[in-house]
Amino acid sequence: MRRGFLNSKAAKERLSSATAQQFEQIKVTSVDLPAVLEKPVVVPGSTFSPTDPPTHIWATLPQLYGEPSTECVLLRGSKEIILKTPGFPKRLPPANSPAAFRVAPSPGKGMGLFSTRPIKQGEIILWERPLLIAPRGVPTRFPPGSFSAAQMIQHHLDACEHFIAIAVNRMEENCRAAFMSLHNCHTHDGSGPLVGRFRTNGVALGGLDGVQHQTDKPYNAILEHVSRLNHSCSPNTQPFFDRATFAYKLYAVRDVPAGEELTYQYIDVLANKTARAESLKPYDVVCTCLACTENIAETDKRRSEIANIFPFVPTWLMNYQLPDDWLIKKCTALLELIDKEGLQHLEGYCMGTRAIMDSYICLGDSRNASKWAARVALRPWSECEAESYPVKELLDPGSPAYAQHPLWQMRMRMWM
Ligand SMILES: [Zn+2]
Repeated sequence: MRRGFLNSKAAKERLSSATAQQFEQIKVTSVDLPAVLEKPVVVPGSTFSPTDPPTHIWATLPQLYGEPSTECVLLRGSKEIILKTPGFPKRLPPANSPAAFRVAPSPGKGMGLFSTRPIKQGEIILWERPLLIAPRGVPTRFPPGSFSAAQMIQHHLDACEHFIAIAVNRMEENCRAAFMSLHNCHTHDGSGPLVGRFRTNGVALGGLDGVQHQTDKPYNAILEHVSRLNHSCSPNTQPFFDRATFAYKLYAVRDVPAGEELTYQYIDVLANKTARAESLKPYDVVCTCLACTENIAETDKRRSEIANIFPFVPTWLMNYQLPDDWLIKKCTALLELIDKEGLQHLEGYCMGTRAIMDSYICLGDSRNASKWAARVALRPWSECEAESYPVKELLDPGSPAYAQHPLWQMRMRMWM
């Protein structure tokens, strides 16, 4: 992402007033490690009454082992979910040495991340604790009176700035500097300097409120490196948040040659080119990827087809009128379309791969199932995958795990 600094005098003044005076009003009670969360606080000021029950807490997580920690603004209930995560707080694995990426200028895009060596599909490029995790919006109370839409939006943006300022003030100096060095493309829409960076660099994060696989994820995470990934409509990486380590793993979703820019999807890449261009406007991005510049009609058609294929095993398993290879053919077509469009980061890619493996298990064909198990093992970046059963035991076609598998020969058993 474009690297930006807080240059204007007005912006500096706004930052200091948003941080210094508001932070002084907050009484935060620290607790001893490893009880890592701090007590709820109510934000005083024009937006909230001090008598309101606390809706958010500010916390530093995980604060252990001398590792980098994350400043968090958490919604009610998230604390319990984090603390109940098996293994939390887990140590970060050692970093790759030498690093598989470097930060460097990307022509026309500011700074970006680039591979320093060939990276294999499924490889973890880096582990990274976020600098900040916070909700994408905050509840806003309006004083009596009537307000225009613009005033209401401004009021909400000011409230968000207030919330983020508390967390940014709690950061260690180097983390705050890393946060402030990120690009801000929201300099003219009423966003403050902190919210501007938060909106520009946020990686959508779900699962901290107990709801998995939601499309509308309530949190944004800001990271020193992952947030610098530039957009592509055919991205070659996918970040995955691991709650136990409280860190993102950045996966390569296909083989990446040395020196290639690492990219991420900012918007819905299954939309057509016109809609994608519109969605990228708030990011100041005019995408020049192949999907946006060459064979646009064919690309749009393929993306629309991908959006309409759902690799769901029960649809086929429960319908005896469908041929035995119906789902396998459907998913094979899906994977070919995805490979052609360079969209391997999508859930559908991991789910389609697993659905083919499951189909062969349902048909009692362990030889083919094991071949697809090997591909499932190479595609671990999907949120759905993280909750699915492991495939290690299915790599050997002669493994007794097949006979014990709940789907084993299910297609035959269903219709006997
Ligand atoms: Zn594009």
